[in-house]
Amino acid sequence: MADKYDVVVIGAGPAGYVAAIRAAQLGLKTACVEKWINKQNKPALGGTCLNVGCIPSKALLESTELYHNAQHNFADLGINVGSLDVDVPKMIARKDKIVSELTGGIEMLFKANGIDWLKGSGKLLANKQVEVTAHDGSVSTVGADNVIMASGSVPIELKATPLEGDKVVDSSGALDWQAIPGTVCVIGAGIIGLELGSVWRRLGSEVVLLEALDTFLPMVDHQIAKVAARTFAKQGLDIRLNTRVMGSKVTGDKVTVTYQDKDGEHEMVVDKLIVAVGRRAATEGVIAAESQVSVDERGLIHVNEKCETNVPGVYAIGDAVRGPMLAHKGSEEGVMVAEIIAGHHAQLNYDIMPNVIYTHPEVAWVGKTEEELKEEGIDYQAGAFPFAASGRAKARGDTDGQVKILRDKKTDRMLGAHIIGPSASELLGQSVLAMEFDGTIEDIAMTIHAHPTLSEAMHEAALSADGRAIHIANKKAR
Ligand code: FAD
Ligand code: AMP
Repeated sequence: MADKYDVVVIGAGPAGYVAAIRAAQLGLKTACVEKWINKQNKPALGGTCLNVGCIPSKALLESTELYHNAQHNFADLGINVGSLDVDVPKMIARKDKIVSELTGGIEMLFKANGIDWLKGSGKLLANKQVEVTAHDGSVSTVGADNVIMASGSVPIELKATPLEGDKVVDSSGALDWQAIPGTVCVIGAGIIGLELGSVWRRLGSEVVLLEALDTFLPMVDHQIAKVAARTFAKQGLDIRLNTRVMGSKVTGDKVTVTYQDKDGEHEMVVDKLIVAVGRRAATEGVIAAESQVSVDERGLIHVNEKCETNVPGVYAIGDAVRGPMLAHKGSEEGVMVAEIIAGHHAQLNYDIMPNVIYTHPEVAWVGKTEEELKEEGIDYQAGAFPFAASGRAKARGDTDGQVKILRDKKTDRMLGAHIIGPSASELLGQSVLAMEFDGTIEDIAMTIHAHPTLSEAMHEAALSADGRAIHIANKKAR
């Protein structure tokens, strides 16, 4: 193994491993330092996303949605399944198998691309030297012309609610329970809290989400957030806003949660508590002071729009830098940086960033919300279409939600798309593409959409912006 590389990446999450693969594809001699030890006590690639984030949460959301449908919706479709049984350990084992296959796949891709995986903890020293502390404690140093910092993020812990065994857990712990808890409290009704709350609610737990803010999903278009709040409440997710958790105490099998709302301080006794109050950049111990790399008070590494730090040849990407903590955002930054290092022109359009909440129905959006457009004084027009009027949604027995698109009144350019409904995550793709191509609403209106598909709802929403939707009564006829 050489000790001088063109590129050394620290961290092999979706930001770092993608950067390493792209750098190697471009002919750069690349190493990636990764310290993760997985549930099976083995070193693993893939970071948060593959091991304890995007993928395992979606695996459990998939299993539990099918279970929920079999229990509550199959009869409506004329399918009687009799008595149902859940095998939680098997569900968790399936999730673990998916994780192993995908993380193993990254290992194979590293081999295929000639990337050296340096197993252990990396620390950036001066002059682009990287110190690697292996799992057995041995220390070595490698040099690089370019270093990409991709150390990601970790769950924020609350001092007042310390993690304790499988009773008070963070998002990772909530992916591993072997039995269905009777009652679960989730601190934080953000994306992760809602997804994990949904998993256990679908399996039958009573789930309460306590959220300090007085607005539900403030980053989501308010009209869509309102529909989401109503739909989640119907599912039995007890979401309480304006409610701040003050502390927790484990006694025997139970957890007592203390919280404060407008009526004062209260206690709630539950079987499990999930702390889902956000994530913070994991940059402590990754950057030696002598490296001169500048980090802000929240631990985020300072970068410009090209992900360059203040030190030439040192880049930072993913959850460790500004911007939304999303896997695809980190991956695209990884590609951009690898290409810049290889001497190519590369850039990212951060304004067109897809966002998804993988609840049911899913919530997915891109671009500006109606509130943002109002605040910015942009002359816009909305078009909308409810899934209740979609033939395909009806055939699927899945009609909650709507598509809403926002267009610039002057230019007809698409300014935003906001979807709550079945497969919203997949439907969002065409809006992202339309915006990336600087498309207009008329472009979508003129595009032939297959019938019957959920994507017709996007077509109809585009038509409705112009008062010419076919399958709903338009507010104004053309
Ligand atoms: P990470 O994935 O955190 O990877 C960083 C890697 O760096 C880790 O493997 C870590 O071990 C390693 N590392 C850190 N320090 C060192 C060091 N000193 N030396 C060596 N290695 C080091 N995002 C989505 O886009 N879609 C989703 O559906 C989604 N679902 C999520 C669900 C959950 C439950 C969670 C927790 C997160 C979810 N996210 C989702 C967020 C997503 O996981 C992160 O945005 C993404 O993983 C960030 O990628 P990253 O490469 O920057 O960091
Ligand atoms: P996200 O950042 O999307 O993961 O969401 C985390 C949520 O947790 C945010 O909406 C916070 O307002 C919320 N939160 C943080 N601390 C507390 C607390 N002590 N009690 C209740 N909610 C909290």
